[in-house]
Amino acid sequence: MKRRDFIKTTTALGIGLTLSSKAVFASESKKELLPKKQTRVAIIGGGFGGATTAKYIKMLNPKLDVVLIDQHDIFYSCPMSNHVIVGLSNIKEISFKYDILQKKYGVKFLKKEVENIDGVSKKVLFKDGFLTYDILVVSPGIGFKYDEAIGYTKDVAEVLPHAWKAGEQTLKLAKMLKELPKGGTVLLRVPKAPYRCPPGPYERSCLIAWYLKTYKPGSKILVIDENDDVTSKGKLFKAAFAELYKDILEYTPDVNVLNIDAKNRVIKTSKGDIKADLINFIPDQKANDSAFKFGLIPEGKLWAPVDSWTLESTLVKDVYVIGDSANRGSFGTVPHSGYIANSMGKVVAEAIVAKLNGKNPPRPFMMNTCYSMVSNEEAIWVATVYEYNDDKKLTVQVGKAGGVPEQRSKIDKENQYSWANSIWEDTFM
Ligand SMILES: Cc1cc2nc3c(=O)[nH]c(=O)nc-3n(C[C@H](O)[C@H](O)[C@H](O)COP(=O)(O)OP(=O)(O)OC[C@H]3O[C@@H](n4cnc5c(N)ncnc54)[C@H](O)[C@@H]3O)c2cc1C
Repeated sequence: MKRRDFIKTTTALGIGLTLSSKAVFASESKKELLPKKQTRVAIIGGGFGGATTAKYIKMLNPKLDVVLIDQHDIFYSCPMSNHVIVGLSNIKEISFKYDILQKKYGVKFLKKEVENIDGVSKKVLFKDGFLTYDILVVSPGIGFKYDEAIGYTKDVAEVLPHAWKAGEQTLKLAKMLKELPKGGTVLLRVPKAPYRCPPGPYERSCLIAWYLKTYKPGSKILVIDENDDVTSKGKLFKAAFAELYKDILEYTPDVNVLNIDAKNRVIKTSKGDIKADLINFIPDQKANDSAFKFGLIPEGKLWAPVDSWTLESTLVKDVYVIGDSANRGSFGTVPHSGYIANSMGKVVAEAIVAKLNGKNPPRPFMMNTCYSMVSNEEAIWVATVYEYNDDKKLTVQVGKAGGVPEQRSKIDKENQYSWANSIWEDTFM
């Protein structure tokens, strides 16, 4: 296709010229990977959204060619990664490979970083080749807002690990906590909502407080929150702060971070300067950088808009965006969570298989359940059921189908392990 024709076609399809045309045209001289012989669904991102989609499409129609692409061949689960930081679990227990999806369901797995996509000739572009698709699903996870103005850069994130993507960063933070001097101070910063896993920072705060109480007498944790209150399970977390960690955990809401001095470990905030021995700065968030590169985010926006019924991108035809990168405002009132990414994977799998069969996609239905440990022996949870609402044209909570427990409990610690095993099994096995 000539460049002039490409521009004409994209305009006719209503696709904004946000794709990198340089990358698109460069693809023509590259080799085709896994030449396509039958109808193919390609999926970028082998996390909770992408792996679930691959498995469920194969379950719904084993004849479809499903290729799952991820830059890594081991996936580290963020759910339960806070346990690893405080030594209640290890990295192996939260690591998953794609061999079961390959052997049991016939999903093809490609370990490669995707450079870009070409929504017109329907290609996924790599440094050394391309792959053609009929339908593409993109589930690349979350991205971080680096902010030079306050001194928060990618390099700073290496020195002060956020551990908001599990793996290397999780192990780094665990090591730093282990090396904290007795009587030391930990500072944890809760990002401005929306961010991935609303209860996650408060669970981590409780678990670090438990760790300090148990192994580092005289130490404390200062939790500073960019939000004006705890953003999830508020009553339960605040009860744990007060009843379990009265002299160890200090929670301050509505704190704006103005500057980070990583070298001297000092954070300047709207409520004064804080010096700490260990800083866990969890940055503000946006869609993953890949979603921007792929042309799935409108100019000046932070998340990828999708059709609220099918989750197809409103910018690039036959490309579906699910998981953390999708714009909540465009499809529903759901949190950024692994459970929701898994639910979206099922919604999109059904929508795609229906479309390929010439049928209407079914009504979207999603669920979220999230457990949080507040100590080594007690946990709390939140659960909500969501369904498409015809008046709002969004997927919203069904009546009062949802809630939180009255109080933290030991039995919910056991339930948390069952919960984690079942979401991992549903996604990767
Ligand atoms: C500490 C913590 C605790 C959490 N606990 C819970 C919990 O208890 N319950 C819950 O429901 N959720 C929890 N979450 C949230 C959950 O982890 C995310 O919401 C979920 O992982 C989102 O799924 P996703 O598919 O959008 O992205 P991910 O699961 O992050 O997967 C994205 C994948 O895309 C790949 N990728 C990205 N770009 C490219 C590219 N260009 N080429 C190739 N591959 C690419 C990445 O390598 C990655 O494997 C937690 C999060 C954190 C940080």
